Amino acid sequence: MRAAAQQPRQLPPPRHRRTAVLAAGLLIATAGGTAAAFTATDASAATDAVAGCTVAYTVQNQWDTGFTTQVTVTNTGPAVTSWTLGWSFAGNQKVTQGWNADIAQSAAAVTAKNLSYNGTLATGGSTNFGFNGSYSGTNTSPTAFTLNGVACNGGTPTTPPTTPPTTPPTTPPTTPPTTPPPGTRVDNPYAGAKSYVNPEWSAKAAAEAGGSRIANQPTAVWLDRIAAINGVGGGMGLRAHLNKAVTQAAGQPLTIQLVIYDLPGRDCAALASNGELGPNDLPRYQSEFIDPIAAILADPAYANLRIVPIIEIDSLPNLVTNTSGRPTATAACDTMKANGNYVNGVSYALRKLGAIPNVYNYIDAGHHGWLGWDDNFGASADLFAQVAKANGGTVDNVTGFITNTANYGILHEPYYTIDDSVNGTSVRQSKWVDWNRYVDELSYAQGFRNRLIQAGFNANIGMLIDTSRNGWGGTARPTGPGATTSVDTYVNGGKLDRRIHLGNWCNQSGAGLGERPTAAPAAGIDAYVWVKPPGESDGSSTAIANDEGKGFDRMCDPTYGGNARNGNNLSGALPNAPLSGHWFSAQFQELMKNAYPAL
Ligand code: BGC
Repeated sequence: MRAAAQQPRQLPPPRHRRTAVLAAGLLIATAGGTAAAFTATDASAATDAVAGCTVAYTVQNQWDTGFTTQVTVTNTGPAVTSWTLGWSFAGNQKVTQGWNADIAQSAAAVTAKNLSYNGTLATGGSTNFGFNGSYSGTNTSPTAFTLNGVACNGGTPTTPPTTPPTTPPTTPPTTPPTTPPPGTRVDNPYAGAKSYVNPEWSAKAAAEAGGSRIANQPTAVWLDRIAAINGVGGGMGLRAHLNKAVTQAAGQPLTIQLVIYDLPGRDCAALASNGELGPNDLPRYQSEFIDPIAAILADPAYANLRIVPIIEIDSLPNLVTNTSGRPTATAACDTMKANGNYVNGVSYALRKLGAIPNVYNYIDAGHHGWLGWDDNFGASADLFAQVAKANGGTVDNVTGFITNTANYGILHEPYYTIDDSVNGTSVRQSKWVDWNRYVDELSYAQGFRNRLIQAGFNANIGMLIDTSRNGWGGTARPTGPGATTSVDTYVNGGKLDRRIHLGNWCNQSGAGLGERPTAAPAAGIDAYVWVKPPGESDGSSTAIANDEGKGFDRMCDPTYGGNARNGNNLSGALPNAPLSGHWFSAQFQELMKNAYPAL
């Protein structure tokens, strides 16, 4: 047990993308969710009555005491301007928090009413909302729903219509459908949209044994050097991806994710992803990287795509946590703080890309094992707001933030919370938590979102969480809380994140694919995404000569005994890894093997 007088940790472990492994995934959820669709028709067609409806009730995540559900309602009857969906739970489920609907519950009976912006449902129109709930025992999904009092009952009306409607709806819809036409800026670009499947990644995934199970998942396109704009080594460039995205969209809304990753002095606290631009190359970053990207994105040919740039992984948080005054300071991060080129580079990207109407900027926000400590949390949010407003910029250029990119932080720990204590000692004093305020990414992302709004960002910002390698399934996954002998036995025995240390981040052994990409999975979360493509290395496990500017970071070497950022523990990295970004078959197989939800 740790001494109560221990000082809060000053510095977080390093880079977000480097989070470790362990853990298993959380939610038992029926992978991919338990989805049920119900349809009904009914003859009553009074104003705002509905002559037919289908409801898809999908439990997206479920753990021992709670669950997250997404509900999609489709109106197959006349248009309505307001709606109320009703159902009853079979068990003791309680709605604890909802979004996109006003949800009320009385005993088992629940009503979900539209909000001001989503009341109109055209014939054939759909809307969706979601909620978190609690339960014990069995979480049986409801199967009977009413929409404006009319049953949606599984395709066969319980009471067949006795008389056909005698009059058509008297008033045609006066407002457009709630699903905006492609190209209109929306609150959450992932909601109601397909996501771009990168054909190059997809082909590599499909070529792996068992890879076809995930080869059609959307992953981000990384613009990690100037040459990537036109395509590296004959590969697809930005236009080729966007053209392909237009084809995949086929006239429907589609989101394409681009990682903007070539900042001057990139990766100042680590070595594995150092880049091509030197610390003082801001002019080149602007004119040779951001300007050409912005020019392509602004092409009217792409105006109907929802383009999501993910801005500069692992950059701004380093200015807070790895500069002078912190035990993990590096000379390179001090240089980037002093010359202002991280701040000015990100500011430039936000302003140039944010000026394009169908572009949705998300800024990298580390992960809970980096910014979850008090010393880092608020200071980072305030720095992000300062950067958004720098050089004449505005917070309106920021749609949201992404956490856990290329990192291994568990989405949800079901067997302990930050508020638990053992024999009067807080879990915050355990070796693993080490005074952090958060134990998982979902609580961190939601908490950080609130702090970002407090810092000045818009109240409708949304968070993304990279779940590409935070599944922590497999045979070593705990199935209940740890022993209450001490906070350490309690945390270590119950935590799903099975990294050796929270600060480990490179090609973690035992890690699995996490939640599949999902839109609007939880309050404040725009999507779970796979930004770091599974199978792409985090860094080489030995020094490898290269022309990409990449160094050798020993956190990717399984024989390394660690440093201050991981409490001098073993790195937990897989052996024989190639350079960061290069295909690493063994890692891809490891991620599939330990996927949670399982494949
Ligand atoms: C690498 C990039 C690569 C990206 C995606 C980063 O770690 O530095 O070159 O594009 O990962 O795999």
